[in-house]
Amino acid sequence: MTDSHIHNTAEQSNNNQAYTAEQWSKIETVLLDMDGTLLDLHFDNYFWLQFMPEKYAELFGIEREEANRVLKQASDETSGTLNWYCLDYWSERLNMPVAELKHDIVEKIQYRPHVKDFLEMLKQQGKRAVIVTNAHRDSVNLKMSKTGLDQLVDRIISSHDYQEPKESQAFWQHLQHDEPFNLETTLLIDDSQAVLNSARKWGFQHLLTIFHPDSKKAPNTDSEHLGIHHFDELIYKDDT
Ligand SMILES: [Mg+2]
Repeated sequence: MTDSHIHNTAEQSNNNQAYTAEQWSKIETVLLDMDGTLLDLHFDNYFWLQFMPEKYAELFGIEREEANRVLKQASDETSGTLNWYCLDYWSERLNMPVAELKHDIVEKIQYRPHVKDFLEMLKQQGKRAVIVTNAHRDSVNLKMSKTGLDQLVDRIISSHDYQEPKESQAFWQHLQHDEPFNLETTLLIDDSQAVLNSARKWGFQHLLTIFHPDSKKAPNTDSEHLGIHHFDELIYKDDT
């Protein structure tokens, strides 16, 4: 893959839809991130930036601001590593039952717009749909039981299964072995720029970002990658 290939793809696709129907017809497999892509990132942002600091301050009898500072520092230290996504790690480090606490705000787990229609279309068109997430299995299980998302895809892979986050090249190596995919016919959709950069380095030719991962925040189109706001931009008539 070359840079010019990326730019060509970007130019061709710079219409209303992120992919032309012809480009879409060549895609056989879609690898999908979970949080911020299929599901609203509001749950995760709310949990880590509001709910947890509040609980932490309460539990340790400190000011909310101090709790924010402690959690922010811990987050910065582990960002981009598997630990950042690991509920066991956080339960131990913070001395709090993190997986359990997520159940307290389970009503905030929601689909992003048009996701069910998009996944239904993939099924109808015979394209393989695989979730590849950095989320811990406890978190995956909670979200599946709340949404039924597991019924709409062919397979779910957590990077914890490989002990490597998607930000690492080793993750893609494990994935290639475990879930063989063709770089020319596989599309990866992920709201994380670090993950998309890692996938591009591995050789992915078809990458899309999500401009609006958190429904409670403003969209952000500042990305090196092609992107969509919502999945209705990828709904194609069934003539492929
Ligand atoms: Mg994500």
